[in-house]
Amino acid sequence: MKLDLHTHPWEATLSPPNREVVGEIVAHVKRRGIQGIGITEHHNKEYGYRVAELVREYFPGEILVIPGQEIDIDDRVQVVELYLKESTFRFLAHPGHPGDFEDYLEKHAQELQGIEVRNLFHDWKMDQEKIQRAAKDYNLLLLSGSDAHSLWNIGRYWTELKSLSDLHTKREIAPIV
Ligand SMILES: [Zn+2]
Repeated sequence: MKLDLHTHPWEATLSPPNREVVGEIVAHVKRRGIQGIGITEHHNKEYGYRVAELVREYFPGEILVIPGQEIDIDDRVQVVELYLKESTFRFLAHPGHPGDFEDYLEKHAQELQGIEVRNLFHDWKMDQEKIQRAAKDYNLLLLSGSDAHSLWNIGRYWTELKSLSDLHTKREIAPIV
């Protein structure tokens, strides 16, 4: 399955979630030929939960929505949390933007399960080799996400998973906020 696990439809629409907006999100996801998205607004998990609820109500079975949020750790590092039914999946977003990430990984790799190796907006600041090496050293899943801030960009980058259980790792972590 193909999932874009890093999107910002709230920032794209600036509209409270309702049937119409959610219909547009669903249409954009399907148009890209992917099966679902993680909704990862900045410090706001309620929006993703609400969209997931509306998709279940009005567009059942059409796309998968995983609620999540993007969290500023400090002025160099941002992480994304995805709230799966029974666990939390946390990944390092666009390592290299806004700043260096190696210090953070050294201290906190155990609190992460994934790392972005491709991001539509920040690719050019991301050292792919360094990231691939870190993923190997710390046993992190490599992810590709759009970081879309417009509906049009949703699904331009995506991660291929065998199933959602690829996101259930042995590492247990608690949500940060
Ligand atoms: Zn983002």
